Amino acid sequence: MTSVFDSDIARFRAILETSRRIVFFTGAGISTESGIPDFRSPGGVWDRFRPIDFGEFMASDEARRETWRRKFETDKTLRAAEPNAGHAGVARLVREGRASCVITQNIDGLHQASGVPDEQVIELHGNSTYARCLACEKRYELDPIRERFEEDGEAPVCDCGGYIKAATISFGQAMPEAAMARAQDETNACDLFVSIGSSLVVYPAAAFPAMAKRRGARLVILNRDPTDFDEIADLVLHREIGATMRHATGANA
Ligand SMILES: [Zn+2]
Repeated sequence: MTSVFDSDIARFRAILETSRRIVFFTGAGISTESGIPDFRSPGGVWDRFRPIDFGEFMASDEARRETWRRKFETDKTLRAAEPNAGHAGVARLVREGRASCVITQNIDGLHQASGVPDEQVIELHGNSTYARCLACEKRYELDPIRERFEEDGEAPVCDCGGYIKAATISFGQAMPEAAMARAQDETNACDLFVSIGSSLVVYPAAAFPAMAKRRGARLVILNRDPTDFDEIADLVLHREIGATMRHATGANA
């Protein structure tokens, strides 16, 4: 009955099994199955609020307070989320040494939560599960910041005087150079690039599939909707991510 599906899965599994250095690239789609809304999609938070860009954050105390108010509001969803079979499949291949890393556009920390070591997660848009001082880069955990914010409503400031911000990359904020360079190196060195749950529209996501193909790597795209790179892919799966990864890798969340 589902022979097309089965043969697609068999091909995906065969491609995974015959690759020695896999790079996973993940976008919002892998985390929507964990209950995290795609903030860029219709009905998402960005429909209701005009985004506060990085320049405004730096310029205005009110913008900083509003950023933290929104942060703690959306955190309720993020904190409740757990990794799904998609994350588990990625984690299994990393653990087995067949995948060198996962490059992600997500900020939810679910790859780490599923067991991928910190140093093998390359976060292009940062991480929302902790904060950093924008001046000295000191790391801050969110719980103490939240407690203080609930008491005095003031945006947190570092001992050094710098502004503290969630460790995500805001609109208007520079891309993290070290992460970008590592992502490119990994992509150039892989023999299989698997894009999961990304529409591959936004820069820099859009640059990676072609980069991998140019170096002779195979390309697999697993995404609910078609992407602009389906044509150059060796295998395209318009499928539910968790179920597909569970069947292809045998891993369970
Ligand atoms: Zn500081």
